[in-house]
Formats: sequence, structure tokens, C-alpha cells
Amino acid sequence: MPASILVIEDEEPIQILLRYNLEAEGHRVRVSADGEDTMMLIADERPDLILLDWMLPGISGIEVCRLVRTRPETKSIPIIMLTARSEEFERVRGLATGADDYLVKPFSVLELLARIKSILRRVNPDSVAEELKAGDLVLNRASKRVSRANRDVGLSPTEFRLLEHLMRNPGRVYSRAQLLDTVWGRDAEVDERTVDVHVGRLRKLLSRGKEQDPIRTVRATGYAFDERFGTHKSNIV
Ligand code: CA
Repeated sequence: MPASILVIEDEEPIQILLRYNLEAEGHRVRVSADGEDTMMLIADERPDLILLDWMLPGISGIEVCRLVRTRPETKSIPIIMLTARSEEFERVRGLATGADDYLVKPFSVLELLARIKSILRRVNPDSVAEELKAGDLVLNRASKRVSRANRDVGLSPTEFRLLEHLMRNPGRVYSRAQLLDTVWGRDAEVDERTVDVHVGRLRKLLSRGKEQDPIRTVRATGYAFDERFGTHKSNIV
């Protein structure tokens, strides 16, 4: 059930604590310390969830929350606010601004992980589902296996992550850079052609050149899992 989580927090010890614990749970973590740079990052990355500190340099957490909620492309991203203030008044204000949940520092990491899980399950059942299905294609996260029309498809760990990432949000187009970042990791020493090579291999393994291709190439942009895959009669070429 890995998700991409954006942590917006300026205090380094808390950044480290959050990154460590979230990554230990398998989540992909991005940290931003500044509310103003963050808006670009959010629009670009569209994380599955945002952990947002109340007191940020430059712009307040509340303002970030409000901006996220006003933009169509980001408004459905769940937000958990983190704050040192515990007054009920603040809590109400946080929720009124559109935060989904609220934790007061110092918070229990286990409590935070539990809340993250429950929010992810609520907003996007696919992000925590054990199996992702589309048409005759089944991806099992627990066993790390993929099958198509009951035929086992042997994928490398990278191909598996790539398919899982695409399948989680059918129809959403990812650029090569975004795929590199989330599937290979930010520090990986690979270039964008690597993505093309892996997508090519993945397609071959999934379709064997004769079944419907579940992956859509979007010219000059990147790749998406075809949201119509499995909903129509297959258009075998
Ligand atoms: Ca702060």
C-alpha cells in the first residue's frame, strides 16, 4: 500500500522523523520546507497525501491548504495538518480550510501512520488495495505477481513498480521524469530513455504482441494506463 506523500515542514528533526517512518512503511516521501515553493511541487507531483505543518516560513500552512483546495488539479488531495497549537479554535479553523485531519505536536508516529492509512483507504481504495484489476489484468501487491487472463506474467521488480504506479491512476498521464522519480527514485543514475525501454518491455510481456495494450503513449508527454482498458471489447491489432 505505498503512497506518495509530500511532507511540508520546516523543522528538520520532524522532517527526518517523518521521512524515516513513512519510508519504513513503504511510502515515497518528498519533503519541502517552504510553503511558497510547495504549490508548484504539489501541482507537478500530485502526491497521494500531504502532511502540512501549520507554521511555515513565507506562507502559512492554512494558506497552503486553502490554495490546494481552490485549484481543480489539486483540490482532492487529502491533507493532514501538523501543528503545535492545540486550541479547539485552531482545530475548527484547520478543518474549515479543508484539511482532512489534524495532529498536534508532539504526535505519536503510530497514530499518524494509522490516520494516513485510514485517509488513503477512504479517498482512494486502490492505493491500499491488495489487488489492482483492469480487464483481464490482475496485479497483486502482496505476492508481487501479475497475471493476464490467468496467465502469469513474470515482471522484474522495476517493471512491477512501473505497472503498479500506472495502474493506480488509470488515465493519468505521467511524464518520463515523473516516472523516473517515483519508480526508480530521485537518486537513480538513469536517463529518460530508460523509461521507454522498460515500458517497451512491460508492453511486450503483458500483451505478447497480440493482446490489447493496456499502456497508452501520450505523444510528447509520457505514458498512462489506458482507462478504457478492459471496459471495451479488446481492439486486438
Ligand atoms: Ca514549522
